[in-house]
Amino acid sequence: GELTALPDIELSRLEIIQTKQPKQTPNASNLVFGHTFTDHMLTIPWSANSGWGNPKIQPYGPISIEPSATVLHYAQELFEGLKAYRHPGGKVTLFRPDMNMKRMNTSAKRVALPTFDGDALVELMKRLIQIDKHWIPDQPGYSLYIRPTLIGTQPALGVAPPNQALLFVICSPVGPYYPEGFKPIALYGTTEYSRAAPGGTGAFKLGANYAPGVVAQKEAAQKGYAQNLWLHGPDHHITEVGTMNTFVVFKHENGVTELVTPPLDGMILPGITRDSTLALARDHASGKVILEGLPEPSKFVVNERPITIKEVKEAAQRGSLVEFFGTGTAAVISPVNKIGYLGEDIHIPTGPDGMGPVSRPIWKQLVGIQVGNIPSPWSVVV
Ligand code: PMP
Repeated sequence: GELTALPDIELSRLEIIQTKQPKQTPNASNLVFGHTFTDHMLTIPWSANSGWGNPKIQPYGPISIEPSATVLHYAQELFEGLKAYRHPGGKVTLFRPDMNMKRMNTSAKRVALPTFDGDALVELMKRLIQIDKHWIPDQPGYSLYIRPTLIGTQPALGVAPPNQALLFVICSPVGPYYPEGFKPIALYGTTEYSRAAPGGTGAFKLGANYAPGVVAQKEAAQKGYAQNLWLHGPDHHITEVGTMNTFVVFKHENGVTELVTPPLDGMILPGITRDSTLALARDHASGKVILEGLPEPSKFVVNERPITIKEVKEAAQRGSLVEFFGTGTAAVISPVNKIGYLGEDIHIPTGPDGMGPVSRPIWKQLVGIQVGNIPSPWSVVV
């Protein structure tokens, strides 16, 4: 027979059903992360026989799937998280949405869910955001968190690639992660649980990676720590912080400041904030774009290399540990002031504003781009 390509996601097939009962937008100061949703959502069905169906923007509300749907049994689910920012003057932008689409397709491949045209989904998300943009609170630090999700919906028990799937996108207005300025967090160096393993799924944004972390997080909290520092293998390699990527800054004896993050070895989620932090730091190190406040380029290096907790602990004891921070869409940068490790606390310096000398200029630049004060190709107009 002849090979005919099945339809991909197509903007031209979009149907829009506006809500007849618009909700009251909330008082921004009462927002709890991820608890409030806008008036509309985007849905796109897929089937193995007919490919991607008609995208639909419709009132936000329950979706109907059968109890036998594969997502409910075998966690055939993946998701993304990105933010839309409202700029002074009213323009709305997304931050590097192409990266989220790339990661979403990589996740889909890993669990045999269908892939799709990422550019088309970005265009559809723009339509959804345009319709609900009055939900983006008009105050500094606020944004609209966008949650694209893909689930297997075939009503059949049996572990196999589902022949039906549903992609949907919901939006939630969110406030600043640190409304009262940066508050450094304490981490619990976790050795009794693993977040990811070689050959596993840690590098993909699958729902299945997150449920097992809840108990570990709860236990860390009971011990008085905010998040898990996931340590891997016999040498207790540093991997991630809760649901953020990890960065460490050392000042070496030769006067060189080193910014380090673990390499993408299959156990690390390729964070978009991680990639952006590396790109800004490398541009500075090469002298291409100078970030005021960072050590001068000849005294600053950026490395993706394995780091053990032992290296961090020894640096802290010698006084050569400059800072330790997490990166992610929700908080952008999260400074760390303490790591509990095998019954002892490793203390990490933080500045008077909670940040450190390397994270501060990078944070300023990232947030400047996100909120539209610094023009950048990373900002995509909705
Ligand atoms: N690691 C994990 C496990 C995460 O869930 C996230 C949040 N997506 C990150 C890192 C940070 O990724 P990003 O910078 O793309 O938000």
